[in-house]
Amino acid sequence: MINEYVARKVATKDMQPCLICSKPTVTVLYNASGPDWLYTCDIHLHDNPQFAIPIHSIEYQEAVDKLRRLKLQVDKASVKNSNSWDGWVSHLFNKKPTKEDHNEEVSIENNEADEPEDVQKKYNQQLDLVANLQKKTRKYQLSDTTFNSRIERRKNQQRMLERRKKEQELYANTDPQELATQFTFPSVPNNPVSKS
Ligand SMILES: [Zn+2]
Repeated sequence: MINEYVARKVATKDMQPCLICSKPTVTVLYNASGPDWLYTCDIHLHDNPQFAIPIHSIEYQEAVDKLRRLKLQVDKASVKNSNSWDGWVSHLFNKKPTKEDHNEEVSIENNEADEPEDVQKKYNQQLDLVANLQKKTRKYQLSDTTFNSRIERRKNQQRMLERRKKEQELYANTDPQELATQFTFPSVPNNPVSKS
C-alpha cells in the first residue's frame, strides 16, 4: 500500500464520523492502492502534520518559489523607498546644484525599476494564486504513525476475513444433518416444559 490519499467529498447522507474527533464529515481520504479510506473533517486535515501532510503540485511549488522572490523584492523596494525618501530629505538640506541632476536621474531610474506599488501588487496577486493552488491540493500523505496504524488495521481486517472465510468453508463442508447430531444442546435445568 502506497502512502498517497486523495481527499474526496461524499454526499451528506453518506457522512461518517471523523477519525480524529468522531464528528460526522463528508470528507474522505481515499487510497486506491489499498484500497483504504478514512473520514476526516477538514479542520483536522489542514495544518495538521501529525495526521497528514499535503502533497503539492509542481505548479504550486513553482508559485511558492516565485512568491518568495517577490517577497524579497517587496522588502528591497520598501527599504529602497525609505532610502530614497531619506535621500530626498537630506538632499533638501544639502542642496548642491552640481549634484542635483545626477541625483534626480538616479531616483527616476529607481522608480522605473522597482515601483514599490507594482511589486506589492505583483506580490499580492501571487499570494492569491498560491492560496488558490493550495485549496486545489487534494493529495495527502499520512504521517508515519497514522499510516502505520492504517497498515496494522488492514492486516487485522484481512486476518479476520480469512478466519471468517475458513469458518464458512468449514460450515459449508459439513452436512446439516451431521451437524445437528454432532451438537447436543444442553438442557436448561428445572425446565418445566421438559419435565411434563
Ligand atoms: Zn475531526
